[in-house]
Amino acid sequence: MEFSFILLGGGESNRFNSSLPKQYHKIAGKTLIDISIIKIREFKEIKSIIFVYNKKHKEYLKEVKENNVKLIMGGNTREESTYNALLYLKNLKKKGKVLIHDSARPNFSKQLIKNILESSKKNKTIIPVLRVQDAIKEKKNKNTILSIKKKNFYLTQTPQCFDFNEIFQLHKTRRNMYIDDDSSLISNNKIKFIKGEKNNFKITDKEDLNLLKKISKSNIKVGIGFDVHRLVVGRKLYLGGIKIPSKIGTLGHSDGDPVLHSVIDALLGACKMGDIGEKFSDKSKKLKNISSSKLMEIVINQINKKNYLINNIDINIITQTPKLKMFKKKIINNVARLCKISPDRINIKGKTTEKLGVIGQEKAIAAEVIVSVIKYE
Ligand code: ZN
Repeated sequence: MEFSFILLGGGESNRFNSSLPKQYHKIAGKTLIDISIIKIREFKEIKSIIFVYNKKHKEYLKEVKENNVKLIMGGNTREESTYNALLYLKNLKKKGKVLIHDSARPNFSKQLIKNILESSKKNKTIIPVLRVQDAIKEKKNKNTILSIKKKNFYLTQTPQCFDFNEIFQLHKTRRNMYIDDDSSLISNNKIKFIKGEKNNFKITDKEDLNLLKKISKSNIKVGIGFDVHRLVVGRKLYLGGIKIPSKIGTLGHSDGDPVLHSVIDALLGACKMGDIGEKFSDKSKKLKNISSSKLMEIVINQINKKNYLINNIDINIITQTPKLKMFKKKIINNVARLCKISPDRINIKGKTTEKLGVIGQEKAIAAEVIVSVIKYE
């Protein structure tokens, strides 16, 4: 079964009271939009991802860093925005199922998506719901307040899963029946309710965003990395994946980049995934003279798969020569690119050892790194 994923980000955030729309706010340097996309990308069955944006938010789109996402301009309402995305899929002759999700709900777990995909084998429409815990009152008018039994009420969440053709037809013919979400178009009892998640709450106001930040902070882990390489004549010098002009370079099985090796070790430490020597053996012929940027890419993919986002990286480069001032910005930008994070999450400090020891005598170069990462479900 093939799935498409529509991520709705067309809302105006009227209740949010901030010039930056809520879906463009960031956790660990990623917009709420990116966070949903990163998780969804892990599911091979989901072949296309569409993000529907508000035409007034064009200036913020550059903050969304995930690529291979089709951007569609939204309409004036949620139903129009969804329809624009459905129409795009229709023109691509997409069939199968479609998941429709609010970008203001970035905190769903991958388990929820697994449950929805599993349930879709037997059911056409799947909606995650929560039972109502609080007593319900309805204010009829100024003088009448009704108490309603909560037992039969459900709170619906997203992603909601539909048969593509069915939801497309319903959008075409029954749009006037739309109330708040797409499942409102399906009035019969064919909807399969599955258990939603309390953590999959919708970010509506600042209080919700603060709660999300608190949850993220409680999942912060840190890791430390250290590496040293001999400096010799006739080798190149790579620091943070950047080739530095120098008469001497680092000896190593790979290109001997102590900065990237320390970053890798710090990341593996924070994510409890061992160390660089276990992952990449210095006995392997395949890895002889390999660019450390390649090793970095492999590790970044592995930690992303294990649900870690990089929060920040602090790097010390300890060397007598060359002076690093001129290269700092270049190295930061390159490490950011490799880690798929924004450069403002990375700091570099150039240190010397005051001509003392092997580093001071220009026989070696070292780097030490501390990183913090955030684990999500
Ligand atoms: Zn090394």
